[in-house]
Formats: sequence, structure tokens, C-alpha cells
Amino acid sequence: MSENLTVIAIDGPSASGKSSVSRMVAKALGYNYVDSGAMYRAVTWKVIEEGLDVTDTEQVLALIHRMKIHFEIVDGAARMFVGGVDPGNAVREPRVAEKVSIIAAIPEVRQLLVAQQRSLTKFGSLVMEGRDIGSVVFPDTPHKFYLDADPAVRAQRRTKDFQAMKISADTAGVAQALQQRDKLDSSRATSPLQIALGATVINNSHQTLEETVKTILDHIKQSGTRRGAMRVQ
Ligand code: C5P
Repeated sequence: MSENLTVIAIDGPSASGKSSVSRMVAKALGYNYVDSGAMYRAVTWKVIEEGLDVTDTEQVLALIHRMKIHFEIVDGAARMFVGGVDPGNAVREPRVAEKVSIIAAIPEVRQLLVAQQRSLTKFGSLVMEGRDIGSVVFPDTPHKFYLDADPAVRAQRRTKDFQAMKISADTAGVAQALQQRDKLDSSRATSPLQIALGATVINNSHQTLEETVKTILDHIKQSGTRRGAMRVQ
């Protein structure tokens, strides 16, 4: 990576506020925003669209090897096109969310997407959110953050997201689905969700988005002097 490029890694469990916070941090810094979860979701969407069984790893691998992927920057955010198609909001549907952790646990899928994620610095400095950005994708960046929030708060946030997209959801069901996905993401063998070495941990259960963004921007400003894991409440 060129010395003039900066990567801000923002990891954390589902509905921890990563997307909104990462978009705002990217905007404040004039960097591109990358949602790596959307890439795993897009692959999962394609597997479902092709009528394949997500647990049939052989078929999934055959598909990803013939799949054409390219990226475009739209309004400061990277969009992944699969076979020339941007799946858009379809990747947010529960049928995709339910299966994405199975696809994301396949090492070859991760290898392919990690290479794509690293290649996005060709567009310039970026803020990338995900599960393994600070630990695996850009382990050398000094700007690593791990966002977390209480499970009940996360379930409420995700229910609101669904409602805004006119997808019917009840908080109890959403809480259960999030718990299940977090469990799969944290326990998988390859690149599990974890706090990257040197990451600043922010529990934002009682923070506004603006407060979390400010915390991150302040840390970035002072980062020259910071090393080791820290906790910010
Ligand atoms: O962030 P989001 O909830 O959209 O991520 C969807 C899924 O993609 C996660 O539950 C996880 O299984 C996978 N993922 C991943 N590594 C990343 C980003 C997302 O495994 N860097």
C-alpha cells in the first residue's frame, strides 16, 4: 500500500452501528466507504439466485470461480457488481442474512473477497467495515476500531432498519437471528470475528452516532501516539 493511503478498519458484530458510523467517518475524512459485509452478502445472494444449496461447498466454489466481480465508486461508496449486476438492497433481505455466515465461513470465499477488499485501495484512502478488517485484511493499519453494543440495543436497531426497508420483522425474532449469526461468525475457523490487536473498543450502546464518530475521529487525530488495545465507553 502506498504511504499516502490511509485505511480505517471498523469491525464489530451485527448491528453494532458499523455502517452508519463508517459512512460518516468516511464522509468527514473524504475517504471512500467500503462495506465488506455487503460483499459476502452479494455472493450469498448470487448463490441463492442460482438456486444452489449454500451448504454444497463444491457447487458454491464452482460458482465463485466463474463469477465476474467488479467495483464502482458511487457517491463515495464502493459497490460490488456480480456478473454485471448490483444486487442493491436485495442483499439485506432476511433470506440472504440467514445464509451469509455459512458462505462467509468458506475459506476460498474469504480468500477471494479479501483480495478484492485489498485491491480497493486503488480508488484511494478508505474506511472499511467488517469482521476481520483490522485482524486479516489490513492488519498493518494503525487505525483499528471495534464497535460493540448490548444485544438488546442491536436487535432494536436492526428491527428499525428492516422497518425502514418495509421488511416485516419483530424484535424477538431479530434478536435471535443476530445471536445465531454472531455465534457462527465468532466461532468459525477462518478469520473469526475478534478484536484485532491494537484496536480501540467502543461500546456505543448509550452513544449517539455523532458521539461515536467523534470518538473515532479524535482517535485518528491522536493515533501517532497510540498503541495497544483500549476501551472507550
Ligand atoms: O456486516 P454484515 O452484517 O452485513 O455482514 C454480513 C455477514 O458477512 C456477517 O454476518 C459475516 O458472516 C460476513 N462477514 C465476514 N467478514 C467481513 C464482513 C462480513 O465474514 N469482513
